[in-house]
Amino acid sequence: MARRTLILALLLLSPACIPADAAPRCGVPHKPPCPTTTPRPTTTLPTPPAPSKRIAVLLINFADDLRQPWTPAFIDSLYDGPPTSVSDFYNRSIGLTVSADVFGWFTIATTTAQCPSSQNALSDQADAAAIAAGVDLSLYTNRQYFWPANAVSGCRSGGQQPGTRSWVAMPTSCNQATGICAARTIPAHEFGHNLGYAHASAWNCAGVVLSTSCVHSEYGDSFDVMGSGYGLLSNLNRLRFGAIPSTQVVDVTNATITVTPLNNPTSLVYRIPYGSDFIYIENRAERTVYENGPGTWNGGMLLFRVGPDYTVQTLGAWPGSHLLDGSPESNTNPGARGLPVGASFTTPTGVTITNLSFDGVNNTVQVASP
Ligand SMILES: [Zn+2]
Repeated sequence: MARRTLILALLLLSPACIPADAAPRCGVPHKPPCPTTTPRPTTTLPTPPAPSKRIAVLLINFADDLRQPWTPAFIDSLYDGPPTSVSDFYNRSIGLTVSADVFGWFTIATTTAQCPSSQNALSDQADAAAIAAGVDLSLYTNRQYFWPANAVSGCRSGGQQPGTRSWVAMPTSCNQATGICAARTIPAHEFGHNLGYAHASAWNCAGVVLSTSCVHSEYGDSFDVMGSGYGLLSNLNRLRFGAIPSTQVVDVTNATITVTPLNNPTSLVYRIPYGSDFIYIENRAERTVYENGPGTWNGGMLLFRVGPDYTVQTLGAWPGSHLLDGSPESNTNPGARGLPVGASFTTPTGVTITNLSFDGVNNTVQVASP
């Protein structure tokens, strides 16, 4: 009864939105972020984190769930293997060197029922077990606690944002025998929180590309690993890490511009002022192994995200962004969010953006402000 009373009290006290300093918990629908009532602090370009990261992956199971569905060598292939590994992903996205070592399995005293409220306790137990087994955890910048997902609500993935600890509840659909592991995005996503990244969200704007009454979709960005995809990090997220020089950022109000592909290191990043935020324009014409996910890419379509200036941080973490739906009238595929060639939209502030043409690599785009 006392537990029921506590849960009820927590529910009543639970805000309708997520405070900016809340640790993200992944895998369930999130509440929208609380509106910012005071201006967010603007800093200079954030200092890039250390040029390399080393993750200790601790395979754990619970006192009442002793499954070991994968070998440490297989799990290591998700981190250090060829394309689509965590290491390859961050190297290609932001030039960060990531390596990982996998240890375990370690059985901890926490039960699956205790898991949702014992995130730090289970981590401490896993650390102690690893140290007892001779692992020198001081060699690692980050720790990721990794277990086979179970049916207990709340025993799920998450990551400190920013921080050094993250948690991966990997579905057993991750198949060692076939090597097919669609959920391989989870380790990369949770590690992204440790780097400071918030979720890459989307706005659904009731039949138009952008309005003042769009509905927040927490994981709606199907192109960024911090949303629902495994595409390379967005230009905004790359700028935040210093992976693109600030000298390559161009603010546009009235111009016809050439937008080159995301991965081109010399590409300019064009953005359009929108209130205190910006609309960032992105070309994903260069198809890597990471752009073959749920986002259906039609030749020449352009992505638009609304986000803050890339130098803005909140409590040491980077605020999220909102991918727009460039073809909202006909779109039944939530992954297909590009603005097609020949299409245009007008923002509530009166700026008209037109995707004029695509030559197979580059887009020509017209921006017209009142
Ligand atoms: Zn998350």
